[in-house]
Amino acid sequence: MRLILQPGTKIVVATHNPGKARELAEILENRFDLVTAGQLSLAEPDETETTFEGNALLKARAAAQASGLIALADDSGLSVQALGGAPGIYSARWAGETKDFGVAMARIEQDLRSSGASDLRAWFTCALAVAWPDGPAVVVEGRVAGNLTFPARGDRGFGYDPIFVPEGETQTFGEMEPARKDAMSHRSRAFAQLRAALL
Ligand code: IMP
Repeated sequence: MRLILQPGTKIVVATHNPGKARELAEILENRFDLVTAGQLSLAEPDETETTFEGNALLKARAAAQASGLIALADDSGLSVQALGGAPGIYSARWAGETKDFGVAMARIEQDLRSSGASDLRAWFTCALAVAWPDGPAVVVEGRVAGNLTFPARGDRGFGYDPIFVPEGETQTFGEMEPARKDAMSHRSRAFAQLRAALL
């Protein structure tokens, strides 16, 4: 079966974060009629899967079933080679209740020091899933590889951006022009795949 998203289709974005919904709307070039899971008061499911794709799919399916609409969800995070891929799907959780990424970045630095590893390779992953209320779904994944650097540099971006230098670059994502980050990010790569698959 060929799944297509027609322009103007009503889509529920499975996030309770208005900023994320806005970012997704921009990436989708405002082609769709977007509503958020928060606006529909849909419950947020527990992210019980073990992969980015699994969690994106779980969130999209839950929103599609609860709303009867086509749903889009994402799951993303930073994986560190020498830490066996951690924090990975736990990237948000490492920042704790207060969402303090200073704490999360310090934990990565500390864990690397404890492990004695000199390998600083890391990558960001973004999985995007679209689910239809009657069952079908599509999931794609984008990645950007790079190296960690300490101390953190730059106050642009968010999350782990200040300790990540993408391959071939000298600036961290935290120092980079936002448009430059967007052009190479895991999120834009995942969207390019989704566009190719569905639009
Ligand atoms: P999610 O919103 O549950 O998918 O969590 C994503 C986590 O990964 C958050 O903690 C983000 O800070 C982190 N993350 C995802 N994408 C990026 C990025 O582009 N830069 C920095 N951190 C990111």
